[in-house]
Amino acid sequence: MLSLGKFLELSLTGREPCEKIQLNAESTRLHWRGEGVLEVVPPSASDCGRDLILSAGIHGNETAPIELLDRLLVRIASNQLKVGTRVLFVLGNLEAMRKGERYLAEDLNRLFSGKHEMAEGSEALRADELEKYCIAFYQGVESNGHARERLHFDLHTAIRGSRVEKFALYPFVEGRELPERSLARLQAGAVNTVLKQNRHASTFSAFTATHLDAESFTLELGKARPFGHNEGVNLEALEAMLATLISGGDVDDNAYQPEHTQLYQVAREVIKHSESFRLHLADDVENFTELETGYLLAEDCGERFVVEEAGARIIFPNPRVKNGLRAGLLIVPA
Ligand SMILES: [Zn+2]
Repeated sequence: MLSLGKFLELSLTGREPCEKIQLNAESTRLHWRGEGVLEVVPPSASDCGRDLILSAGIHGNETAPIELLDRLLVRIASNQLKVGTRVLFVLGNLEAMRKGERYLAEDLNRLFSGKHEMAEGSEALRADELEKYCIAFYQGVESNGHARERLHFDLHTAIRGSRVEKFALYPFVEGRELPERSLARLQAGAVNTVLKQNRHASTFSAFTATHLDAESFTLELGKARPFGHNEGVNLEALEAMLATLISGGDVDDNAYQPEHTQLYQVAREVIKHSESFRLHLADDVENFTELETGYLLAEDCGERFVVEEAGARIIFPNPRVKNGLRAGLLIVPA
């Protein structure tokens, strides 16, 4: 295997490879672009015209997706997976990964699309770097007159347990519809629940969707656990789907079953305005838990947040966010 197949080990130990560019037996080029950023480029004769960013570890303690990317890269570096797609492997928050923490100073996934300019600390610097690596990746290829397909999957696990083990978030971009092709790919990867966002966000996937015109998703893949303790999360179907995309292939459109995919949209955001914010949910309430109409979900400075929407569910409840940030999302079936 090429030594760049040890990308995760190199990244976690803070080492730089001596040889930053390596070719495997199929003449696929692996290029160490920087700490936690590795580009994989197939020989031009095999290039299917797709540019795929695969990122994980934007939150440092979300290890299952990091291990998934590591498995894919090892297969490439040892010639077990043919490559027909340009791929950028990204490990987001390395310092937090080394400490097994979600983040150190600031949540990296709230700092994209320029938000890092107003923030300080290692995550702000990293968001700036990652934006530049992504821009360089998508621009660093000749289109030869053909439009290239831009994809980005940002892989996460959730803080809480979830009634729905795996789900995707589709960033809001004005005038953009969610293509059936994308739903088919997600379904092939055993991701059958998709939440369409309704406003601009400062997440990594929203940055590549909005600023780089990529078809981007944040994927939530079960609950966060330490390295080596992810056997409870089955990511085999997702790994197979990503391997198909990397190989230059695609999922079978005919296999898509719309009735097996549930779409949600955002009804309202719960924003924490002050330290007197109270979220009336137990810490073990799972994502996608249904809330009855009339339920008092939160209170803040005398303001009451009452559920009015039928069929509403809560995701990402977190009363410990900083003031001014989202402390939960109320969603409804789309
Ligand atoms: Zn995350």
